[in-house]
Amino acid sequence: LIHGHYPYCFIAAQLLLQLFAPGRWVPGAPLDDGSRLKYRLNGWFSWWLTLLVVLVLIWRRVIPATLLADELGPILTVSNLASIAFALYLYAFPWLHREAQGPARRGGFFHDFFTGVVLNPRLGSLDLKFFCESRPGLILWVLIDLSLAAQQLELHGRVSAPMLLVCIFHFWYVADYFLHEDAILSTWDIRHERFGFMLSWGCLVWVPFTFSLQAQYLVRHAHELSLPATIAIVALNAAGYFIFRSSNLQKHRFRQNPSAPIWGKRPTFIRTARGTTLLTSGFWGVARHLNYTGDLMMGLAWCLTCKFGHLLPYFYFIYFSILLIHRERRDDQHCATRYGEDWEEYRRKVPWRMIPGVY
Ligand code: NDP
Repeated sequence: LIHGHYPYCFIAAQLLLQLFAPGRWVPGAPLDDGSRLKYRLNGWFSWWLTLLVVLVLIWRRVIPATLLADELGPILTVSNLASIAFALYLYAFPWLHREAQGPARRGGFFHDFFTGVVLNPRLGSLDLKFFCESRPGLILWVLIDLSLAAQQLELHGRVSAPMLLVCIFHFWYVADYFLHEDAILSTWDIRHERFGFMLSWGCLVWVPFTFSLQAQYLVRHAHELSLPATIAIVALNAAGYFIFRSSNLQKHRFRQNPSAPIWGKRPTFIRTARGTTLLTSGFWGVARHLNYTGDLMMGLAWCLTCKFGHLLPYFYFIYFSILLIHRERRDDQHCATRYGEDWEEYRRKVPWRMIPGVY
């Protein structure tokens, strides 16, 4: 029963987990009208339960470990069709959803279909954007990786160290996401991005199928790495993770408690005319978006496991650099409009965008 219908079983299971798995309700960031939506955070539980169930299904031989790797093409096709249908639904029926901001049609069909017309579409307590941002895509990404490792084992009789590293790095990244799931509530996507084709396709198709490109490449390139190269790659990933996670947490915790010490000192900040605060110490005093730099360092470490035989595994780093550089500029412009003179002062105090002394 599961074997033939696994894509639908997977999505249905994730929906049920989002709705009913134990977790806590947390208020999101204030919306422009001052209201705050509540979100059910149960990703940590859902993530581990999904992995456990998949493990049991493989152990009981209900599904083969290589299922996702073997069926990558068909699943990619189904995911594409489903996400296009879903985006059309979001475009055509915005009035079906509870929506704090009200739908906004701002351009022609293609513009609105692509960028979305609703900010926080909800069916009952189910927040569609919040659900799609993480659950199916991120978990599927890791499951595809693990299935590709199983396929490499089948083909070569062993799992290579680079494949193992890529699987561990990606696993860590996604587990970390669910552990700090509340951090997504203050991100650009949740707060400002309307939910249309761009986000739904991005989360449901782009993430699982392109983020797993390194593992896809490594299945047929079972090379090994020297010890110094392995140590350097692990160190780059660890340093990137430290910068990425610490800077995001510093901002998040500062906004909750502005007097909690950062690097052992009372934080410095700018109080804006809008009433919010801009942190100027810790990582936020070194550059304005070191969280992006840390994320990129991790991405580079993942790509480097594939050595230099082909450009394809570097796709993630190239795409992600373009995305984050563009995003940093967009956020900078958004904050300049939002905060005016206060943002100018922040720019003066922290002149570097992403890499101190360079950019
Ligand atoms: P940020 O978490 O950096 O949020 C930017 C917002 O934070 C600004 O709009 C502003 O909002 C506030 N802010 C900016 N500077 C300060 C400051 N000094 N003190 C306090 N608040 C400040 O951006 P994102 O939401 O884009 O990214 C979050 C994380 O997600 C990043 O680490 C990024 O790398 C990662 N990411 C990963 C992706 C992936 O595909 N793997 C895709 C996109 C992002 P305001 O003042 O209005 O509150």
